Amino acid sequence: AKMLLVGATLAAALTGTRATCSAGSLRGARVLVTGASTGIGEQLAYCYARLGAQVVITARRENVLQQVARRCAQLGAQKALYVTGDMATTSDPSRVVKFAVDELGGLDYLVLNHIGRYSFSPWSGDVHHVRGLMEVNFLSYVQLASAALPSLEKSKGSIVVVSSLLGEFPTPFTAPYTATKFAVNGFFCTLQHELAMRSSDVSLTISILGLVDTESAMEKVRVVPYPAGEAALHVVRAGSLRQKESFYPWYTHLVCLVRDWCPFFRDVIIQKVATQDTP
Ligand code: NDP
Repeated sequence: AKMLLVGATLAAALTGTRATCSAGSLRGARVLVTGASTGIGEQLAYCYARLGAQVVITARRENVLQQVARRCAQLGAQKALYVTGDMATTSDPSRVVKFAVDELGGLDYLVLNHIGRYSFSPWSGDVHHVRGLMEVNFLSYVQLASAALPSLEKSKGSIVVVSSLLGEFPTPFTAPYTATKFAVNGFFCTLQHELAMRSSDVSLTISILGLVDTESAMEKVRVVPYPAGEAALHVVRAGSLRQKESFYPWYTHLVCLVRDWCPFFRDVIIQKVATQDTP
């Protein structure tokens, strides 16, 4: 019954209508979304806003965050606040979580979504770039989760991690990004086990996404993408249903299931496709 209720409420979010107040809905939920100035994070913020949540969004660019927060308020967010933060610095993740917890009086959802810039090209040997991307895409996720866990334990809340098929299935020309997503998946899968073993009430969802039509992704490849709004809705649904793992679009699950069946042909195909898709 809860699944149907959440499904109906989320359908309302997709069609842009205001969700009704109901148990199982996200109305009033206290949500922190990272990387919410553009792309999937921006769409996540709008989904939560349409469902009447209280939203804190974060990224680096204040002027863009201001506009997204204003739109969240128009869409029906009970609260729409922003806080700037650079996830490449070690002090900002805990400062951002503290802001959200203080302003919202606690936290129900921590949605980890931001990523630093990277290019779609063969690895150039730039170790500095890999280290920097690890800081933004991985270590800041660990810091944010660690800072938020005490509040999430109190609220029986959720961590939602936006990850990538590339964190399960390596392809050429994305080595630094792929490394960070493998680290994210490895860390948070392990944390899932530990939360379960100590019967924690905190749920942890890892959403594995394939190519989505955000501006930054479209600069890199020519494969036909899936819409960011739909991807965001998928992530919100998986988090609210407290699923351990979710896949969007459908083919990402299939790829994960069959990836080791025939490694020789798999690698031949990947290398051929990657060569054709390089801009
Ligand atoms: P975008 O590049 O569109 O957005 C990245 C967000 O992160 C922006 O809001 C940006 O805002 C913020 N950001 C970048 N650097 C920092 C930083 N140093 N500190 C704080 N915030 C930062 O990404 P997408 O929407 O494409 O991707 C979102 C998530 O979805 C990622 O986790 C990605 O791995 C995953 N994903 C995306 C796919 C796709 O095809 N798009 C496919 C698979 C997974 P600002 O510049 O203002 O700081």
